[in-house]
Amino acid sequence: MRATFMYGAGDVRIEETPDPAIRQPTDAVVRVLRACICGSDLHPYHSLPSAPEGRPMGHEFIGVVEEVGSDVATLRRGDFVIAPFAWSDGTCEFCREGLQTSCLHGGFWGGNGIGGGQAEAVRVPLADGTLVKVPEPVDEALYPALLTLSDVYGTGHHAAIRAGVTSGDTVAVIGDGAVGLMAVLSAKQLGAERIILMGRHTVRTDLGVEFGATDVVAERGEEGIAKVRELTGGRGAAKVLEAVGHMPAYEQAVGIVRPGGVISRVGVPQYDDAAVGFASLFGPNVTLTGGPAPVRAYIEELLPAVLDGTVQPGKVFDRTVGLDEVPEGYKAMDAREALKVLVRP
Ligand SMILES: [Zn+2]
Repeated sequence: MRATFMYGAGDVRIEETPDPAIRQPTDAVVRVLRACICGSDLHPYHSLPSAPEGRPMGHEFIGVVEEVGSDVATLRRGDFVIAPFAWSDGTCEFCREGLQTSCLHGGFWGGNGIGGGQAEAVRVPLADGTLVKVPEPVDEALYPALLTLSDVYGTGHHAAIRAGVTSGDTVAVIGDGAVGLMAVLSAKQLGAERIILMGRHTVRTDLGVEFGATDVVAERGEEGIAKVRELTGGRGAAKVLEAVGHMPAYEQAVGIVRPGGVISRVGVPQYDDAAVGFASLFGPNVTLTGGPAPVRAYIEELLPAVLDGTVQPGKVFDRTVGLDEVPEGYKAMDAREALKVLVRP
């Protein structure tokens, strides 16, 4: 089969690789119907050191179960499934708490002998715990929306959940990428009254307004902070959802959070050192939270509104490519020519 590998920064290749096969009795093999390129794939695209071995890419996919191991109890050949961006057993103490990204036996796609989703097929470990079966039949028009449950929708939802967004809240979302826009949608669903979206790409912020943003702030840095302060009577936003991961976004979050408020980060941090002292978090009693979203915990809950079209998170996809065009897809997302690229293997 063909699959996507990254050999170093900017070096994405489609290669022939052996078809995945069942190795453990708890495995399933899934034929990929749709995958996509993630904003977080751009981090290695910028910084991955060159290596002779390529890294399998892609952690978001939906597909059809092709084969199951002898211990798989809940799935069978032909089932339509959503794969979360982490695999997990569904039974350990963290999974039972809904923190599947910390599963004692789980892991992430594209490492330790597990392939990536930007491929024709994937071997799924711990299939019973990992995959979510969608009741059939599934209309092809819903594929993009269902695919967002693999990562971006659940991740945006997680940002809002971790921040404790509730009815009447003032929420600020930093970042107009797919996750930021999903954070807007999620904040709206959780009852936020005012949603300030910080982003400067009009096409994206327009979609953000469609998803529920009440204000858009295009300014960044000190200017952006001043603007959000102005919009909130000088107080700041009680809940700040940070969906970027770079230091300026963290500084922005610290600058606009209301005393007593929460900063919830779901952008993968590209830094290890950040201000947490008196002038940043301690003085104003600000809570810092967030992390990799246990999207597996949210799929069943978010699924019905996706299936009946009440929400349309699939709108974040603005380009579709075949597997062979995935390298161009990375380029387009990196150049901000595409918001999120759908892959049809
Ligand atoms: Zn677990």
